[in-house]
Amino acid sequence: MKKEHKLKLGKQSIWQYADAPESTSHIQIKKKYDLFIDGKWVKPESKKYFKTINPATEEVLSEVALAGKKDVDKAVKAARKAYRNVWSKLSGRERAKYIYRIARLLQERAREFSIIESMDGGKAIRESRDVDVPLAAAHFFYTAGWADKLEYAFPNRKVRPLGVAGQVIPWNFPLLMAAWKIAPALACGNTVVLKPAETTPLTALKLAELIQDAGLPEGVVNIVTGAGDTGAAIVNHDDIDKVAFTGSTAVGKLIQSSIVGTGKKLTLELGGKAANIIFEDAPIDQAVEGIINGIYFNQGHVCCAGSRLFVEEPVYKEVIRKLQDRIETLVVGNPLDKNTDIGAINSKEQLKTIENYIKIGKKEGAEFFQSACNVPKKGFWVRPTLFTEVAQSSKIVQEEIFGPVLAVQTFRSVDEVIQKANNTPYGLSAGVWTDKGSKIFNLTSKMRAGVVWANTYNKFDPASPFGGYKESGFGREGGLHGLRPYVRLN
Ligand code: NAD
Repeated sequence: MKKEHKLKLGKQSIWQYADAPESTSHIQIKKKYDLFIDGKWVKPESKKYFKTINPATEEVLSEVALAGKKDVDKAVKAARKAYRNVWSKLSGRERAKYIYRIARLLQERAREFSIIESMDGGKAIRESRDVDVPLAAAHFFYTAGWADKLEYAFPNRKVRPLGVAGQVIPWNFPLLMAAWKIAPALACGNTVVLKPAETTPLTALKLAELIQDAGLPEGVVNIVTGAGDTGAAIVNHDDIDKVAFTGSTAVGKLIQSSIVGTGKKLTLELGGKAANIIFEDAPIDQAVEGIINGIYFNQGHVCCAGSRLFVEEPVYKEVIRKLQDRIETLVVGNPLDKNTDIGAINSKEQLKTIENYIKIGKKEGAEFFQSACNVPKKGFWVRPTLFTEVAQSSKIVQEEIFGPVLAVQTFRSVDEVIQKANNTPYGLSAGVWTDKGSKIFNLTSKMRAGVVWANTYNKFDPASPFGGYKESGFGREGGLHGLRPYVRLN
């Protein structure tokens, strides 16, 4: 029987959607994946594999090799050999040809990549199809364009690559994070050992297949899979010149302390607790849509998610009512359904973390509102959640939840909201909604956040740098700034 999504406004049903799932018939996921080292698929020394599951169904999708220190050493050796013998000797123009080829192949196979991203990570297909995969291809295109123009990127300087980059990425944007890491490294003449997150290895492994198809010289990109120990083996390997890490602040701090004194270069892209600020003069409907997009998009698994909302007092009631109405219309469910707004939580562990924060929010005395929608019985799900009447000191206001949970506060003046918005250990991003350009300029110059969006949210472009202040890390990815961590300048 056909299932239908009923969209409700209050108790009244306003429209219905029939199921519209993406077909998976043309998707090829191997039963087992080995490690991609020196252009070949290599068995792990330990002979151990771990399962990667679909968080929407809890079905096993594949088994993936668990790389240990010896495997990581092989990968670093392959990357060093490729760096010395091939990649550092190629002209920028030749390097660009390969990177453009990866970008084009990714565009051609976009559908396959989107579906696998949604199956392995749980995100709604409209996100992986419209955001993750096109942006990943755009990053390869953009950085390819710089490969033969590095002397213009850094005028009057002699530009040299660093050598071998060790890169470790999280599970919220698996392919996109791989693109953010691999593309600038290659464009600047470095070779790579990359580790995807243990819950979402499949699109990185698919990217390895695509890299083979693109004919990239062996060993230029090596992809090893595993959990924290594998990541640590990369970071702490003696022959790595640069570490690029995206993930939690806790692990970022560990990495920073472990490489002190080694001479390795480091960039850290860490957690966030972004403030989204609505002024009385904002276009309220547009702002509500932006807030929804900013926190519930990708199940709130977004480092720059607008998880703290500040509303100017005169429009508070209106904003909350509109937010609640909109939350009730969000479709939660099968990530492969084209009508789905909110897919599955990435893992059981993350589900527990989010549920725990919801409990804490209730205990702290905040007003709780959650969509009344049904969620599937199997898999990991959280209904879009809203907390009002929260205090600045609340845990749910101070700590990164990394789930679809929004905490709302009010304010009366610009100074007050700047002070409140900056009152966080993080500083990755923020959003401002107002009719007045002067307010935007005033706020953006005083907000301690790497990215501030005005009258929009979560918009990305490969030409625009992204990165944080304070405990959100340092270094930038994207744009001209994103090349700087991968070159030595004389
Ligand atoms: P995490 O720190 O647990 O893991 C990230 C990666 O590091 C994974 O591949 C993991 O296997 C690896 N890892 C774990 N322990 C390690 C260790 N000791 N040494 C080396 N590697 C290790 O983070 P997560 O839960 O996968 O990702 C969510 C976090 O990532 C959130 O805090 C989010 O804000 C952050 N994030 C930041 C950005 C950004 O651009 N600033 C982008 C995406 C995600």
